[in-house]
Amino acid sequence: MNERKYAALVEQARRLGRVRSEVWQRYGSVAGVGSGLRDRQVRDQWLAKGTHTRFGVLANAWKETVRDAMADIAANMEAAKVQVRRAIDRRTKDAAERKRMFTALKADQWATDPFLARQMRKRWKRGHNRIRIPLSTTVAPTGTLRLILRGGRVEVHYQVDASRLRSSRRPGGDRTIGVDKGYTEALTDSDGDHHGPRLGELLATESDRLKERNRRRAKLRSIANTAARRGDHAKAHRIRSNNLGSVERERKTARHRSQVRTEIFTAVHEVVDKAATVVAEDLTKRFAGRKTLGRNVNRRLAAWTKGVTAEALRNVSERRGSAFVPVNAAYTSQTCHRCGRFGRRSGDRFHCTWCGVVWQADVNAAINILQRAGDPDIALHTPHHVVKQILQDRTDRHRTRLPVQDSSPAPAERRANHPNRSAMSNE
Ligand SMILES: [Zn+2]
Repeated sequence: MNERKYAALVEQARRLGRVRSEVWQRYGSVAGVGSGLRDRQVRDQWLAKGTHTRFGVLANAWKETVRDAMADIAANMEAAKVQVRRAIDRRTKDAAERKRMFTALKADQWATDPFLARQMRKRWKRGHNRIRIPLSTTVAPTGTLRLILRGGRVEVHYQVDASRLRSSRRPGGDRTIGVDKGYTEALTDSDGDHHGPRLGELLATESDRLKERNRRRAKLRSIANTAARRGDHAKAHRIRSNNLGSVERERKTARHRSQVRTEIFTAVHEVVDKAATVVAEDLTKRFAGRKTLGRNVNRRLAAWTKGVTAEALRNVSERRGSAFVPVNAAYTSQTCHRCGRFGRRSGDRFHCTWCGVVWQADVNAAINILQRAGDPDIALHTPHHVVKQILQDRTDRHRTRLPVQDSSPAPAERRANHPNRSAMSNE
């Protein structure tokens, strides 16, 4: 399908969506039920009043949509009636009264009976003709979707037209890679490779510069204030405009920011070079607001850096046609990727007393993050304390069996367990 045909379909769907909303609004409410109209009558009414011209779609398309939406409303109302019949059963044992109510319900004349009207309003959850499926990715699927229900999960499949991908860059790799974000190196991946090694140095330099600048400006501000108090307004003005201006300050900030952005974006590109799917912590949540960060230079820099990393993961993945899968990263830096137990972290080392191994902390975290993508119990928004309980339950379950000392670790572990670079074994 070419781009223009595709766009036309999207537009058609949007317009018919408006037709559907209109039908629900007018005839899908408790008030609208009094009309007792059938879809054919609605169509005739719309034709007579010219309502249909507002939507700008072909006659056949809007008529079919009206028919479909009216059928939805009817089915929805019938479902409510099932519950209301039960309510009638509970309300009275009087045969005549029950018969009167059942008949009124069946003939859609319940709106005038206070009990029936109240019950219908309560049970008739109108307009819920769509099911919302929360997605585990921030990439919006488009076009015709194929939904596959598999073991309580829904997989959403959709087609991507390669000619529509804007980037001229080469496409990404074909693997699934987990990444852990950091402030020394921008990213560490589940293979044990580090990306964006200059980030730490850039942030440290900027932090020092900002602290020094703030100190200097505070001093100048105090000199200007003292001058103003003495009546030397000329001096106060000179200091404020020459030494406390914002032009130079903003130029330096912009330069630093562009350097950090380049470092982080390059890091993400390196990961996408080998990945068709990038799994990472969901960096969009729990962003501290400007206020709560206070004046602390390092915390502000860290929050900003986190935002850039989130942006880079999303944008680069999308541009290069790979999937970005955000996962719940709770406890990924505190548990051992091999046995799942909580361990001790000190600096850049992670020590698992059960396995007796010291891992490089960020590599261990990246592997845990990768494993979260396929975790059947821990979803993106599973609360922190629930994640902890799940992890503890898993290790408790295993504790009842004897551990099998694994002499042939999985490929990812073998890399992570590299003697010099990634981990040091105590075994
Ligand atoms: Zn372990």
